[in-house]
Amino acid sequence: MRRFQCHCGNRLFFDNTYCLKCHHQLGFLPDRLTLSAIRPDPDGAWTALGPEVDGRRYRQCAHYEHAGVCNWMVPLDDQDHHCLACRLNHVIPDLSVLQNWRRWAKLEAAKRRLVYQLLHLGLPFQGKRAGGHRGLAFAFLADQPQASPISTGHTNGLITINIEEADPVRREAVREKLGEPYRTLLGHFRHESGHYYWERFFADTGRQPAFRALFGDERQDYAQALRDHYRNPNPDWQEQHISRYASSHPWEDWAETWAHYLHMRDALETAGDLGLVLESCASTVRFSDRDDFQYLLDAWLELTMAMNSMSRSMGSPDMYPFTITPTVARKLEAVHREVHGMVTVGSTAQDR
Ligand SMILES: [Zn+2]
Ligand SMILES: [Zn+2]
Ligand SMILES: [Zn+2]
Repeated sequence: MRRFQCHCGNRLFFDNTYCLKCHHQLGFLPDRLTLSAIRPDPDGAWTALGPEVDGRRYRQCAHYEHAGVCNWMVPLDDQDHHCLACRLNHVIPDLSVLQNWRRWAKLEAAKRRLVYQLLHLGLPFQGKRAGGHRGLAFAFLADQPQASPISTGHTNGLITINIEEADPVRREAVREKLGEPYRTLLGHFRHESGHYYWERFFADTGRQPAFRALFGDERQDYAQALRDHYRNPNPDWQEQHISRYASSHPWEDWAETWAHYLHMRDALETAGDLGLVLESCASTVRFSDRDDFQYLLDAWLELTMAMNSMSRSMGSPDMYPFTITPTVARKLEAVHREVHGMVTVGSTAQDR
């Protein structure tokens, strides 16, 4: 994620809502992919300030104006009350429960980061209204007494997140229990989006054989595979998979690899913006072929080595607790090619 610049020259970060230098409120403009100072108009609309966006008029997303869990804007000619990210919500947490607002705000922050990245990479997505039963949507649900626990997962475009994942104590306990080195809200969103795009890339396309050659046969019983994984996790997953969970089923292998690719692209963008890697590794240039992927991977390995060295200097756990073997690199490259293919040949029209 790059930093943004206020019209007053101040440096801004993606989640900011207020400029401490010029004292203007801020809003993210999804149609321009930038964060901007905004000025209220007498008619209730807002005008964006700054050289590139000056004069454009917006409304605040309803979840910005009324709930304080969003900082995105809606162009005035868009009839929807919600921004591009919030309109994907199918179910939001029950706000009569005291701690749920805080959880919801964390979920929305992670979701906006995902949506920003999809827009930034030019990956098409549609909401349920335009995309039908396979459109993208989110349900943030809580466990209920006398009911089965809510599982975080994906079905036909609907991404369900158990809102307790937004509680860091509970998330850390689950991470420990499952022996995972990394568990974050953003990781959940990226992983589940991988299932959504798997369906767009491979389901009903006749392209499954290419997928199976690298990731395995996804027709094996999914529920049984997950049961086997939790009962008896594969001890020898490291050579073939980016994580232990990825070894549970080819769909999970894809989703874990996909999430990892999104981590790479976002972190390289951040590093490029901060001057930690060459600008060309981080730019929005659509890396197109094998050589370009190798370039990206080399930059990534250099960067993650530096990240971990910094963590160790501070006595913290490794910031990047993963190893990319040659097989894992081939899988990441496959994701890279799919992303590039979608960007090149796919539409970039979102459900706006
Ligand atoms: Zn400012
Ligand atoms: Zn919003
Ligand atoms: Zn999954």
